[in-house]
Amino acid sequence: MTQPLFDRVTLIGIGLIGSSIARVMRRDGLAGSIVACARSDATLNAVQRLNLADKVTKDAAEAARDADLVMICTPVSTYGVIAETIAHALKPGAIVTDVGSVKESAVAAVMPHLPDGVHFVPGHPIAGTENSGPEAGFDTLFEDRWFLITPPPGTDQAAIDKVSELWSRAGSQIDYLEPAHHDQVLAITSHLPHLIAYTIVGTATDLEDHIKSEVIKYSASGFRDFTRIAASDPVMWRDIFIENRDAVLEMLGRLSEDLAGLQRAIRVGDGNTLEELFRRTREIRRGVVEAGQHIPPAPEED
Ligand code: NAP
Repeated sequence: MTQPLFDRVTLIGIGLIGSSIARVMRRDGLAGSIVACARSDATLNAVQRLNLADKVTKDAAEAARDADLVMICTPVSTYGVIAETIAHALKPGAIVTDVGSVKESAVAAVMPHLPDGVHFVPGHPIAGTENSGPEAGFDTLFEDRWFLITPPPGTDQAAIDKVSELWSRAGSQIDYLEPAHHDQVLAITSHLPHLIAYTIVGTATDLEDHIKSEVIKYSASGFRDFTRIAASDPVMWRDIFIENRDAVLEMLGRLSEDLAGLQRAIRVGDGNTLEELFRRTREIRRGVVEAGQHIPPAPEED
């Protein structure tokens, strides 16, 4: 058994992402002990049944007490209250990290509450599925995926290195981005695709009944893939769009312009414009395949 990276790890929120990293820590002995915190009995009972933690509690401050690493794995809108609740219980030298999909607002929500001597290392695994809860996790989720660390200026390097080491052991490649830059990149690679999927599935839902039934029947023609993405967690995605409002609206503006251009090309029968775009996008797909990002361990990542 390897030496634990952390004596005591606290997971605040233990759904898909929290339970997946808990499984990795259990499998490889990376944590001396794990404490899990969530709001509901259903979650905590599942955590105990799956043996993902040594202790479970609904009290975030109690969970964080004496922890060497506290990882926040809840929807991003909860961060401010959680940071405020755990602040007084954190021991000097503790590392607080997170896995949230939006980083500028995560930093803004957490940092002001943390006492001196506690290090915040914000992070985001570019891995996931449309499923939620502790049962949905699996220990290979992060393999061959990126883990993005978005440290604010002045973040303790030793704390960054320890968080980085944990995710490397989970099989991820590590990269570093400014929080605002992260949010812009993810707005186009993840947030907009989800918004489009939610929109298409929503549009289909509003169709007249006789068309709607055919849409489901023949969904393999493309619609099916959108329904999988549009099945992603409603609370998590509500928070992502609200917390990353500026970057999403910027990218949405550009998309709307391009969509209007395509609308016009179709109306006037400008096949060259369409074909030229489709050739360029096919090249992008080749780039994704060459970068090894085309086969998700499970359906989709956020
Ligand atoms: P999830 O499966 O829905 O799990 C959320 C967990 O947080 C549950 O255990 C929930 O349990 C708990 N929780 C919610 N509010 C809480 C609160 N106020 N205090 C304590 N516990 C609370 O969500 P997830 O997919 O793991 O996502 C977690 C985070 O990872 C989000 O910030 C998301 O942006 C990020 N992320 C998700 C993905 C993805 O594809 N899913 C990928 C990368 C990053 P109770 O309901 O019992 O409280």
